[in-house]
Amino acid sequence: MVKESPLAPSTIEALELLRAASTELLELFAPPRCVACDQPCVETPAFCAACLSQLERCAEPEQAGVFAPFVQHGPLVRAVHRAKFGARVAPARAMGLLLADTLGAQLDAVDLVVPVPLHIERLRVRTFNQAAEIAKTLGRPVSYGSLVRERATRPQATLGRDERRANVHEAFAVSNHQKIHGRNVLLLDDVVTTGATLSAARDALLTAGPASVRCVAVARAVLWADRAR
Ligand SMILES: [Zn+2]
Repeated sequence: MVKESPLAPSTIEALELLRAASTELLELFAPPRCVACDQPCVETPAFCAACLSQLERCAEPEQAGVFAPFVQHGPLVRAVHRAKFGARVAPARAMGLLLADTLGAQLDAVDLVVPVPLHIERLRVRTFNQAAEIAKTLGRPVSYGSLVRERATRPQATLGRDERRANVHEAFAVSNHQKIHGRNVLLLDDVVTTGATLSAARDALLTAGPASVRCVAVARAVLWADRAR
């Protein structure tokens, strides 16, 4: 059992911003390279032309209440892995730019972007929340601390559909109802698989009376159990 976080949401927010800023500063001094394959790139953060050509669009981006325009495959798998386990901001930012490009004018209706939060224990290990880094690129106000992960959960990757739902059930809570109330919220995660995490986070947001909550992820992954069928 992981102990409850003793830190207030404002401290989590400050930690998140500080860690991401220091990581970003280090990456600024590196020459521009593709966030997925490390080939030299014209700009940063970006995918190179070869990686962009390998991106696969979802045939059905809107599924079970979650919009996810890309298939979690190839360059996106590498980018997510680098962001999560290599503690690099640029891959998350490049993914965010892809998403911003896809959403286009739809973003005008968004009052607030809420990235799915990490539990503070995982934030300490990862150094930053990549959903928050993706959120920064969408050009809309972002709230980092108004939705919190109260309970540490097991990584979803190893779990089946029902286990995933149980794992994140009531894991989230709103810490600042005023910020969410009456707003059109875009709830954001990097990758959606069964949608259990986004669904649990959305349920928590709904207790604060938002005008709407739209669940969005950059990419959709196939659950390993479904893939094996
Ligand atoms: Zn590349």
